[in-house]
Amino acid sequence: MKLGAHESASGGVHNVIGRAFEDGCESLQLFVKSPNRWAASALTHDEVRLFLKQGGSFGFSNIVAHSAYLINLASPKDDVRKKSVILMKDELSRCDLLRIPFYVVHPGSPIDDSFETGIGRIVQGIDEVYSDHGISAALLLESTAGMGNSIGGKFEHLQMICDRVKRADKIGVCLDICHIHAAGYDITEKYAQIIDEVNERFGDKIRVIHINDSKNPAGTRKDRHELIGKGTVGIETFRSLVNDKRFKDVLGIVETPVEDGRYKAELDLLKSLRNGVKT
Ligand SMILES: [Zn+2]
Repeated sequence: MKLGAHESASGGVHNVIGRAFEDGCESLQLFVKSPNRWAASALTHDEVRLFLKQGGSFGFSNIVAHSAYLINLASPKDDVRKKSVILMKDELSRCDLLRIPFYVVHPGSPIDDSFETGIGRIVQGIDEVYSDHGISAALLLESTAGMGNSIGGKFEHLQMICDRVKRADKIGVCLDICHIHAAGYDITEKYAQIIDEVNERFGDKIRVIHINDSKNPAGTRKDRHELIGKGTVGIETFRSLVNDKRFKDVLGIVETPVEDGRYKAELDLLKSLRNGVKT
């Protein structure tokens, strides 16, 4: 696994790569625009130029973007679905400009409608986004804790979407260890069984894993990240994960609540769990 973190893009996207190098990242996640707003100004010429210059030495294939939180392709509201498609196209075009190959998005929530209805809307939304054949970056659906009727708390949901979208070549999966544990897949007790299942369902569609411990026990459906080894998932699960050969090329991104926004200590801890590294 290529270990890295979600690094802050404050001051411009070109700043993330320096931060990633300082933290000892082998992979990197960032927001390509403010995550809590529908609209944002375009990336500046200088931001793009500096990002591309440093991205070459970091390796573009090790970089993933995370979508804005406002996106909800499963929404019962027409205008929210429309705005979501527009925003996704904008963020994906930013990814292409920055040569970022992957874009993680939360599947969304149908609120009071059924999962089946919600999944149908998500498939339609993704098909609409990729009806523009110019888009290069691939979309990764993130597993969720299943909070508030959200889609993605069950692996079947993600598989149904992957199976139904027109552009199968553009769809992949991002697993989040905190989310799957909270959603009821007890990764501490059943690592082998759960990881076998995701590999059977998704195989090499799994491009990113969010490496987060959980404040809440398995099955609580509460999405609260905890520092590595300090939560209910526990350090031994992370040892299994970083040494799992099936995830050799996967980007393992830490999004834990570090106090100063720096992830070096978390990444050093994870690297120390690698076989052959003394702890
Ligand atoms: Zn996420």
